Amino acid sequence: EVKKSNMKILMLPWLAHGHLSPFVELSKRLAKRNIHIYICSTPVNLNSIKKRITQKYSNSIELIELNLPSLPDLPPQYHTTNGLPPHLMTTLKKAYEMSTPQFSNILSTLLPDLVVYDFNQNWAAEIASFRNIPAVQFLPVGASIMSFGLHMMKNLGKENFPFHEIYLRDYEIIKLQGAGGSKGNDDFSDRNRFLQAIERSCGILLIKSCKEIEGKFMDFLSVLSGKKVVPVGPLVQESYLDDGDQENDEEMEIIRWLDKKEKGSVVFVSFGSEYFLTEEERNEIARGLELSNVNFIWVIRFPFGEKINIQEALPEGFSERIGNRGKIVEEWAPQAKILKHSSTGAFVSHCGWNSITESMKFGIPIIAMPMQIDQPLNARLVEAIGVGLEVIRGDEGNLQSEEMAKVIRKVLVDESGEGVRRKAKELSEKLEMKGDEEIDILVEELVELCKNSNGQC
Ligand code: UDP
Repeated sequence: EVKKSNMKILMLPWLAHGHLSPFVELSKRLAKRNIHIYICSTPVNLNSIKKRITQKYSNSIELIELNLPSLPDLPPQYHTTNGLPPHLMTTLKKAYEMSTPQFSNILSTLLPDLVVYDFNQNWAAEIASFRNIPAVQFLPVGASIMSFGLHMMKNLGKENFPFHEIYLRDYEIIKLQGAGGSKGNDDFSDRNRFLQAIERSCGILLIKSCKEIEGKFMDFLSVLSGKKVVPVGPLVQESYLDDGDQENDEEMEIIRWLDKKEKGSVVFVSFGSEYFLTEEERNEIARGLELSNVNFIWVIRFPFGEKINIQEALPEGFSERIGNRGKIVEEWAPQAKILKHSSTGAFVSHCGWNSITESMKFGIPIIAMPMQIDQPLNARLVEAIGVGLEVIRGDEGNLQSEEMAKVIRKVLVDESGEGVRRKAKELSEKLEMKGDEEIDILVEELVELCKNSNGQC
């Protein structure tokens, strides 16, 4: 019989940072409750999360390598979406699917009590069921986008989706439909994979959300999917330092810079781990930040092999005009630490689900500038909850610097933004108060599921 104390769970996240990260956070919380965890991914991905599995977890979380087949245009450093040239996304998905025999061997060697799989991985649930192992899907995205996506893929009619406040604009719908809920693939099989992956989840769906953020969307998702939706909370990396993580020099420099700024005076600007700004967008954002006249930290990234001198990538004279009120960080910033810092007062965000849940958790109001996939819809949710405002694009879908500056000033300093700032604080206090209570409920749920299931769900 499966008991909590000897339960073993194998985690299989999609190969993107924004998915690995919530799987790691979920793993840590389960490991703290005496569950043994295997995180299974490609060597390049495991390498990037290794330093987050600190000493404290060395006995309870094991990293298991999954080696994708070596395809000519997909060398092992591309076995991740991080820095992957977009045209190789379909190949990466194929290679992942081709690793199923190896995945099957891993299951028969480790014999976990449960497999927790990601988005679109219909094959993982199937292989687990061949081995009589139950499998559940963990959605590291919002219940709003999931219910919207499921509603759309079931062809239930846009006008029948009950929550009008999160409607997408037409050009955004086209993008979402094309992507099948994920980037870079547009064939019909993606839709089938998406639906099957949900269908094959044993009785429940886990979701990185909570009722304070998305109660009614979770209820609707449950109706649409026919599964019990189990929230696991926002899963923010907050105990980074308690876990024994060491700050590097660059991080310390950023924190020292923040230390010298006034409370709530800095806006953090980042577009996540996947999106690369075009030159035009970079210029518009630079102008927006100049016009806003506030302190800022801006993270800028370039695709593999396209690294340009950062000064050349910015408008001429930008750094001189900005002086010490702005800080440019190349490639990667310690986002959670920056959002937690008392000098940070607002977040210009692409509205990736991790970014907005981090912002909500730390009580930082959001200036929404969504770019792709689920982000436009997440931005609408942020406005509907009242914890941020969106920067409206021009008629052609273009970014507008004046509009950006106006929204930054409103959310960060103007009196008219007081309501948004207050809402962000209130939500964060609510989330803080309940702590990790969802995880205790989740553990009960998983133990029960494993007791009653032999993988035939
Ligand atoms: N992140 C970070 N530093 C960066 C960029 C991203 O720490 O410079 C982290 C961020 O805190 C978040 C995740 O990477 O946890 C990005 O996930 P999100 O869902 O927001 O966006 P995606 O990268 O999937 O577009």
